[in-house]
Amino acid sequence: MRKHITIESAKLCCGCGACVNACALGAITMKEDEAGFIYPFVDTAICVECGKCVDVCTFTKKGDGANGEIAVYAAASKNEEVLKSSSSGGIFTELAKEILKNGGAVFGAAWTDDFTLEHICVENEQDLTKLRGSKYVQSNTGTSFSLAKKLLDEERQVCFCGTPCQVSALKAFLKKDYKNLFTVDLVCHGVPNIKMLKDDLKNVLNDKYSKIENISFRDKSYGWGVKGSIKLDNSKVKYNAGNSPYYFYFLKGEVYRESCYNCRYPLENRQGDITLGDYWGISLDLIEKMGDVNADLGVSCVLVNTEKGEKWLDSVKDNISLAKSSRQAVQKRNHQLTAPSAPLPEHKTLLNGYIENGYSSFKAGYKKHIKDHIIRTIKNMIPAKVKRKINDLLS
Ligand SMILES: Cc1cc2nc3c(=O)[nH]c(=O)nc-3n(C[C@H](O)[C@H](O)[C@H](O)COP(=O)(O)OP(=O)(O)OC[C@H]3O[C@@H](n4cnc5c(N)ncnc54)[C@H](O)[C@@H]3O)c2cc1C
Repeated sequence: MRKHITIESAKLCCGCGACVNACALGAITMKEDEAGFIYPFVDTAICVECGKCVDVCTFTKKGDGANGEIAVYAAASKNEEVLKSSSSGGIFTELAKEILKNGGAVFGAAWTDDFTLEHICVENEQDLTKLRGSKYVQSNTGTSFSLAKKLLDEERQVCFCGTPCQVSALKAFLKKDYKNLFTVDLVCHGVPNIKMLKDDLKNVLNDKYSKIENISFRDKSYGWGVKGSIKLDNSKVKYNAGNSPYYFYFLKGEVYRESCYNCRYPLENRQGDITLGDYWGISLDLIEKMGDVNADLGVSCVLVNTEKGEKWLDSVKDNISLAKSSRQAVQKRNHQLTAPSAPLPEHKTLLNGYIENGYSSFKAGYKKHIKDHIIRTIKNMIPAKVKRKINDLLS
């Protein structure tokens, strides 16, 4: 049957861009809907209805990925600079460095000059800084899958890091296993979009918006937690749930794309050779087993899903502190490993308000949550070491 991709339900399209990459005629582009989420748009004047875009669509298909990991670890880079500038334990950088050392290329999400987020290809260690750190917004994969395929066919090693749906999409696009492909999927609870983020940055910064030099959602100068900052030309502005409705709603899970609430990757179907997340609530006992580590600077949970992942992690073991853990221990404080985010009752109201009245509806809703801010602020004032002691006593 001759056909092309159509979006029958928003919850069935994760915006991964596999269809864009699969179309040899360039008939598909990603376009924003009224809320700012990207969906494929087919130019029917160019489309010959070959159906490749339909075949490559992986989000609705079941049965791929790892069902049960080989091993689970707590891990952190021994390099303090890497650790400080990464979101959790800096393991992504250590794994990526190994690929670069072997003459390979690394794909990940980086800010563009005008602060949209795109997947780019990096070929030297210095440029890894562009990829480092979690950006809490959807990254546009652009034509990165096609470029990754070209490099793989040239027999170069390729590392691809992204959300589980992006890693799954890359594999569907490639159609076959490549022994030189190394993948990392992130523990992910969902993504809002660039339009919402930009509206929010304009609100937080006002006339300083044009002076943004960098955005960090996880600035460790405030400790290992969910607090960020915006670097301006010669100053820094705090960026967190206390001053940003976007950040606040992101953490509450209220403004994700519809497909995130329908994510099929949390528990099973892990897509990466390795899955990385924050090891929230790590026990004092496990920190001790890791040896020489400053846990206040962040620890990653590492799920090793394939034998390739096992060898890859082993190849960087001299550069990281590592201790064996279990899925059970990791998911105790990381619900993203058990089920997708559930939309709260306010989700629809908030989204419809945003579509009808723009960003002002975010601000109006945000004021009602002042109690949550206060509780979060008080919790954040408790030093990490004290929190860990309390957790250990309670568990
Ligand atoms: C949207 C999002 C939600 C997340 N939610 C959780 C969660 O609920 N629980 C949890 O434990 N961990 C979550 N994480 C993962 C966590 O924040 C760290 O990214 C992970 O622990 C790896 O940390 P690291 O220190 O090894 O490397 P880092 O240097 O912090 O990670 C960098 C890698 O992440 C990739 N990346 C950054 N932003 C994006 C993006 N928007 N889309 C695709 N790839 C991206 C970069 O390309 C790079 O390869 C989330 C990450 C993202 C991006």
